Amino acid sequence: MLQQYDPKNEHILVYINGALLPRKEAKVSVFDSVVQGGDAVWEGLRVYNGRIFSLERHLERLQNSAHALAFRDVPDSGFITQALFKTLQANNMRDGVHIRLTLTRGEKITSGMDPRLNQAGPTLIILPEWKPPVYPPEIALITSSVRRNSPMSLDSKIHHNNLLNNILAKIEANHAGADAGIMLDKDGYVSEANGVNLFCISKNTVYTPHADSCLPGITRALVLELCRDQGIPALEKNLSITEFYTADEVFTTGTMGELTKVFEIDGRKIFNKSGISTLEKIQQGFKAQTETGGTPLPF
Ligand code: PMP
Repeated sequence: MLQQYDPKNEHILVYINGALLPRKEAKVSVFDSVVQGGDAVWEGLRVYNGRIFSLERHLERLQNSAHALAFRDVPDSGFITQALFKTLQANNMRDGVHIRLTLTRGEKITSGMDPRLNQAGPTLIILPEWKPPVYPPEIALITSSVRRNSPMSLDSKIHHNNLLNNILAKIEANHAGADAGIMLDKDGYVSEANGVNLFCISKNTVYTPHADSCLPGITRALVLELCRDQGIPALEKNLSITEFYTADEVFTTGTMGELTKVFEIDGRKIFNKSGISTLEKIQQGFKAQTETGGTPLPF
């Protein structure tokens, strides 16, 4: 497994609507919308060296997701920032931390789907864990038979908690002994892997699928910006799985695992014909950003 239980997290304090609760007591109601229908939005954030990395981008995506789902009485980003600071301070966490930030539609007056049953306002959950980047240096992928949602069904631009589409792809990867499952879009082009965005590099040009069916990842956006800053050609494009099999380098991006090299897809080894690693250059640039960038913690 890419992630494991860490006993260091046994005594963490979790924020739920203003209260800081020990792990065992940190619970939501059976009437909460996230239990009733996966009706929630979320972000995964990282704390490096006393700073919350890309905080503004994560809060912007959270607000946009909540707005798209017509949540009401959403706390503003200033309030959520203060709640994040308070939670990290209570846990004395300044580095090597991953935060799962969740905003549910809140508690319902009776079980049911209708958002009009939500009359108590949303539930804000901040779950910080000691969890440095967890992926191994290289991973193997398979192509899943599960297609990634297109905007025709559930728009992947909403970062919601209805994750079954991706969980089904992950189950397939587990059965195949791979680390993650590549999900194609409705037309058969590569969309993303079940929990990370995908890039390939061919002849020193970096490619990633259009963000039509994949989550527009924040790490994905940072990599595209970093390539442009470093003069590395980078394009968003429809890409078939064959273009990934035959690329010089393939890598995944995400807050949890940062930039991770892929050594194999569906049993095809990824061979670097160019002899130079553009990925290493991008990884160095990204590391430099995590060492200095982000919103400083006030404690
Ligand atoms: N794709 C999916 C499906 C994800 O859940 C995530 C992580 N939230 C990502 C990609 C990576 O996004 P980010 O770089 O914003 O962490």
